[in-house]
Amino acid sequence: MKAVKFDYKRPATIDEACCLLAGDHNARILAGGQSLIPMLSMRLSRPSLLVDIAHIAELTQFIETDHHIEIGAMVRQAVAQVNPLVKTHIPLLAKALEYVGHLPTRARGTIGGSIAHADPSAEIALVAITLNAEITYQDGEDDVVFDASDFFIGPMLTLAPPSGCLVRTGFPKAPAICGTGFHEVAPRRSDYALASAAAQISASVDGRIEKIDVGVGSVGDFPERLKVDALLTSDLGDDTISQVLHAAMADIETVEDLHASAAYRKRVATELAIRAVRDALNEIKKGTRQ
Ligand SMILES: Cc1cc2nc3c(=O)[nH]c(=O)nc-3n(C[C@H](O)[C@H](O)[C@H](O)COP(=O)(O)OP(=O)(O)OC[C@H]3O[C@@H](n4cnc5c(N)ncnc54)[C@H](O)[C@@H]3O)c2cc1C
Repeated sequence: MKAVKFDYKRPATIDEACCLLAGDHNARILAGGQSLIPMLSMRLSRPSLLVDIAHIAELTQFIETDHHIEIGAMVRQAVAQVNPLVKTHIPLLAKALEYVGHLPTRARGTIGGSIAHADPSAEIALVAITLNAEITYQDGEDDVVFDASDFFIGPMLTLAPPSGCLVRTGFPKAPAICGTGFHEVAPRRSDYALASAAAQISASVDGRIEKIDVGVGSVGDFPERLKVDALLTSDLGDDTISQVLHAAMADIETVEDLHASAAYRKRVATELAIRAVRDALNEIKKGTRQ
């Protein structure tokens, strides 16, 4: 089946793109096309205008600020995966990107496209929520900034302004002493995950654990952060980690579909979150940040 007929524009600036979007409420942004093109072909998406943002140079930048690495929406996933700023300052994202699709899809797919598309299984969205990234849209002439923890509201559903363009995602820089862990289960390597978990733990110079961020993905309508503050005042022993993660996952509603039962997702995501926390603690113990 082929896509419905649509007009095509290729703006050179964000302002131009936002003008085009404001002028047609049935317009759609085309970024890497790895999700949109299949949807067009299956007529799950029927825009009257495609706004191709691939030629807007402003959207391909990495900007380092005091506390964040801002990644432009059109940065290809494969480019982010090998970028020194990402590898040094957002090790959790560098780890998760290995699991996003295949190298050919990562060569086209973008960081912004994955966030805007909001697939519940998206590894990039899981990292954004676990680290509480800042997601910036331009809507007309205004910037609209969302915390990732508020942005995702349902499967492929977000708080994005209907005629807005996602311009950048600000990931908090990892503290100097920190460890990360990322795990997922998928039918085949690089398939969409059935369950996934991410963790980042930071410590003070004397080794005291200061912050623990844990998130799970592919289990509900969107990735979710887990309430694990109890670990901060605990012995961080294996039994304690298991108890706290099981208690935290008890609050998470998991979904059932053709691929996996809700009980399976809850059990596997809990196990993966335990492994991710252990990996992060081991990295701190060994003083190795992979
Ligand atoms: C074989 C295959 C395997 C895959 N496996 C995985 C996987 O394991 N994990 C995973 O997370 N993804 C996977 N993907 C999807 C891939 O990561 C896509 O790249 C991503 O979902 C969408 O990004 P894109 O840049 O390709 O966006 P597009 O496909 O161009 O757009 C996706 C949607 O986001 C909107 N959009 C894009 N950019 C913006 C913007 N800047 N502002 C506002 N709206 C915007 C578009 O209008 C569209 O609705 C896979 C894809 C394929 C083809």
